[in-house]
Amino acid sequence: MRLIRSQSAGAMLLTMRINAITNWAYGVTVLLTGLSGAAFILSTDSAIKERQAVEQHLVLDTLGEELALGAEMRSDEARLFVMRGDERHLEAFHRAEEEERRREEATKTAPNFGASPGEIAALQEIVREAEALDRIEVAAIEAYQKGDRAGAQEKLFGAEHERLQTALLDTVARFRDLTNARTGTALNEAQERSDWYAAAAKTMLGITAALFLSVLYFILKRRVAMPLSRMSGIVTRLAEQDYAVEVPLDRRRDEIGEMNQAIHIFRENGIERDRLDAERRRDQQTKDLILQMMHRLQACQSQNELAEVVARFAPQIFPNLAGHLYVLNDSRTLLTRVGTWLDPKHSAPTFPSSACWGLRRGRPHVSNRGQSDIACQHLDDHGAVGLCVPLTAQGDTIGLLYFEEHSQEEFTVEASRLYLELIAENIGLAVANLQLREKLTNLAVRDALTGLLNRRCLDEALNRQPRGKALTCLMVDIDHFKRFNDEFGHDAGDVVMQYVAQIILDAVADAGNAYRFGGEEFTVLMPEAGEAAGHELAERLRTRIGTTPLSHRGRILGTVSVSVGIASAPDDGPVSTLLTRADAALIDAKNQGRNRSVSASGLSFDGGEVRRSLG
Ligand code: GH3
Ligand code: MG
Ligand code: MG
Repeated sequence: MRLIRSQSAGAMLLTMRINAITNWAYGVTVLLTGLSGAAFILSTDSAIKERQAVEQHLVLDTLGEELALGAEMRSDEARLFVMRGDERHLEAFHRAEEEERRREEATKTAPNFGASPGEIAALQEIVREAEALDRIEVAAIEAYQKGDRAGAQEKLFGAEHERLQTALLDTVARFRDLTNARTGTALNEAQERSDWYAAAAKTMLGITAALFLSVLYFILKRRVAMPLSRMSGIVTRLAEQDYAVEVPLDRRRDEIGEMNQAIHIFRENGIERDRLDAERRRDQQTKDLILQMMHRLQACQSQNELAEVVARFAPQIFPNLAGHLYVLNDSRTLLTRVGTWLDPKHSAPTFPSSACWGLRRGRPHVSNRGQSDIACQHLDDHGAVGLCVPLTAQGDTIGLLYFEEHSQEEFTVEASRLYLELIAENIGLAVANLQLREKLTNLAVRDALTGLLNRRCLDEALNRQPRGKALTCLMVDIDHFKRFNDEFGHDAGDVVMQYVAQIILDAVADAGNAYRFGGEEFTVLMPEAGEAAGHELAERLRTRIGTTPLSHRGRILGTVSVSVGIASAPDDGPVSTLLTRADAALIDAKNQGRNRSVSASGLSFDGGEVRRSLG
């Protein structure tokens, strides 16, 4: 119980301000000082009483002594008068009688001097005995004056006088003893009281001093020095940016408590600043990675390269997000995956554009299955959260960036949405640029009507042909095409040209490249192939063209045939004469009646002349 009380007192001290503590200590000190002053005053008062008792004792003692002496002196004068008859002794006797009376009067004031009832009784007895003596002496003087000298002497020296005189002396002695005893007791009491008060005053002064010193010690040591040294250690560590330091929460309401709270706030601010710094560094890192990715995207020359760049950078920028990069086909109906990273599990590799809410709405869409928003149909049933960001360029949708959570951590889409959109915008622009470049390249290298490579490409291919490597060339010409044009019109002629070009493309496939040489003439180059392979291909495509019936706008156009000239390099001649030799073989095929394949190696002619004769 006492422990609890002292603990609560300690807690109270701890929660008090230094100001309040000093005020309390000051109050208690003033009170104790006042009390000790009062004790000193009381002690002095006792000393005064002591002195008064001594003075009163002196008065009473003197009175007792004088009463005895006076009676003795009067008896002596009476005796001397009776013995000598000298009138001077009689006068002296009367003076002594006067004085005796005065003293007897004085005994009535004895209570004023603190005389006890016993002492007063003793005094009254003394007075009675003195008066009895006086009566004897007066009677003796009267007897003497009447001439009875012997009778007078008998009275003064008789037994009765002797008894009374002795009794008087005894009573005086008893009175003085009583006075002495009472005064001694009073003195002792006054002395003890005085000593007690002096001791109390000293004790209180001692307590005051001890209280003052302990408050000073408590304030300086417990409330100031210890907390200050602890805090200075903490502040030093905080100054070294060591925010792991523990700052014990000191809830006391004094200046030290306020300092402690300020250090607390300082530490929390430091931790917050560190956190913001780390966040800013992470943010800067993300921005740097995005910038690097943008630079590389701009330098990409193909869609595959672009997909690789995205697949390499996306997981660095968003380590928690797996994803796919989809590209929309030319007819804008189907999305095909061209890139992937961190193995996403929930989105199909290809899907119609209508299966994506992001593409439909033209804005990023979070598929939050089982939660608030509707999920895209290209996601399977197990996907938790997925984000689709449409890729657009100049208002056209060209693809889709898809993200899903990779780790078990919280999906960070919302936090990174700005960056995700920025990335999507840049990837969209890069894809659009690549597609545009491809279109322009196609325009530059392909023939608009048939889609085959153009004459310039053919020339470049021949120029690039490595020396010594085999190359076979087919020159294909539609037979009597002028007539066809004349009969069915130019549009029908165009359709036939496209059809023949497509058959050539299909037939050549991976064996080489097909070119439109000019007019209704086509060229096929077969790298690393000999004349026999060329002839074989020529026959195949001639048969396929010749056996396919044609129609245009519901009109039956019949069939067309082609003549083919085949030449090879380097075995049968150099690459530089390859076209001429193939052309000569073609002319030969025409000359032989068309709808046939002729190899140049079987001819002996001057190619230039043959060509001219055909013109
Ligand atoms: P052959 O080769 O069998 O000797 O007879 P041909 O009638 O095919 O030969 P010619 O060189 O006399 O005629 C070629 C014709 O091809 C002339 C032209 O009208 C036609 N032609 C050339 N280019 C095109 C084209 O782009 N579209 C259409 N429809 N016709 C074309
Ligand atoms: Mg022709
Ligand atoms: Mg021709």
